[in-house]
Amino acid sequence: MKERSESGITVKKSENFMEWYLQVLSKSNFMDYTDVSGCIVFKPAAYGAWQTIMNATDAEFKKAGIENVYFPLLIPEKLLKKEQEHMEGFAPEVAWVTQSGETKFQERLAIRPTSEAIMYASYSKWVRSWRDLPIRHNQWNNALRWEFKHPTPFLRSREFLWNEGHSVFATEKEANAERDVILGIYMKILREYLALPVILGIKSDKEKFAGAVATYSTEHVMPDGWAIQGPDFHSDGQNFAKAFDIKFLDKEGNIQHAWQNTYAITTRELGVMVATHSDDKGLVLPPRLAYIQVVIVPILKKENAKLVDDYARKVQKQLGGEFRVRMDDREGYSPGYKFNDWELRGIPVRIEIGQKEVEAEKVVLVRRDTGEKTECKLADAKSKVEKLLSDIHENMYAKAEKFLKANIHAVSDYAEFKKVLSEKGGMIHAPWCGSRECEESIKEQTGAKITNIPFDEGKLAEKCIYCGKKAKHMANFAKSY
Ligand SMILES: [Zn+2]
Repeated sequence: MKERSESGITVKKSENFMEWYLQVLSKSNFMDYTDVSGCIVFKPAAYGAWQTIMNATDAEFKKAGIENVYFPLLIPEKLLKKEQEHMEGFAPEVAWVTQSGETKFQERLAIRPTSEAIMYASYSKWVRSWRDLPIRHNQWNNALRWEFKHPTPFLRSREFLWNEGHSVFATEKEANAERDVILGIYMKILREYLALPVILGIKSDKEKFAGAVATYSTEHVMPDGWAIQGPDFHSDGQNFAKAFDIKFLDKEGNIQHAWQNTYAITTRELGVMVATHSDDKGLVLPPRLAYIQVVIVPILKKENAKLVDDYARKVQKQLGGEFRVRMDDREGYSPGYKFNDWELRGIPVRIEIGQKEVEAEKVVLVRRDTGEKTECKLADAKSKVEKLLSDIHENMYAKAEKFLKANIHAVSDYAEFKKVLSEKGGMIHAPWCGSRECEESIKEQTGAKITNIPFDEGKLAEKCIYCGKKAKHMANFAKSY
């Protein structure tokens, strides 16, 4: 019989975070690599989690009045070049299709790094009058960014999956009103499905999206103290409307450029989720995203095999209608091996059933997040499991929130800034005058950029941490993925 040593995680999260992260992903059967660097396989656990995120987010989008569309994967170069900042921002990462068979194309086609260029060319044809507005579209698709840095599964994948929201409004006021709706949806999904807390705020001008007027972001702190950006929302103002000629006749008969927004949540969140919640035994999946929520492991002996197996199937039947349940009836593996295997794969609740449980009409429940073992009557199993899954979710969120709060460090001078950053990492909360020079100097000297200026800035200190001039904001600085 196979035992744990071959397949378990061999490094500790606290000792070598990146090696641990990569081992968890592969050994838990979450993803696999392919021959294309930066393009990975999402196995059922990963794709199942993404599908649940998609479905939950999509339901919220629909409630908010957003419609799904699909635009082509390929974007003609001339369209991509229309908005200059946008083009410059993406140029180094764009992969091009240049020929079919042996025939070269006259014009190169970009594999979408994002779809503004192709969508807005259509919008410019569709929008004529105020009656054609608003347009509130979303696509669930994949995008390709050939990043130069070493790719890391989910966190820095070249091909990733996401939602691409694009809207067009007649007025700035309407466009701005969409921001809180969308950010509210993302916060809800992160809180209720991924069990992830974030810091919500606005990006600095230097760090905003290429072509946007303002970018609003959610920011996470990873277990190694580095920050990583979560879902975001861009106010594009009239920038793209001017570049792509999206104009309309308003109610007064004047021709105006439209106002636009874009927003996204990506499969990067799966990486953040795995990194945040998992432990030295392997993956820990938030219950609502777990493709298997409950695994039943019957402990069979020769003399009671049929008895225990029958009882286990009864349990499976009882819970199967409510939860995603898997019966582990694999032959040739010891119960101990199976316990370890499902721990490694992060399944929230394990049910153990042996002779003793059959006789007492009970089940033994083991929760993955704490390892705590309880038992209950078979008749109460359904309500007990429901409560357990909800407790696990809340416990995971509380733990992640505690970690995030413990990793935001307020500092009052630049020496302390550098000391805390190098010794503790995390987010450094510091006063900033708003100038790009200070932001760039800090980045050069410490490696930390402004992740965002939190909506909840707290009390504004008097002087910029770097130049000593009057502070405009309390910003969060961090070394960032
Ligand atoms: Zn300054």
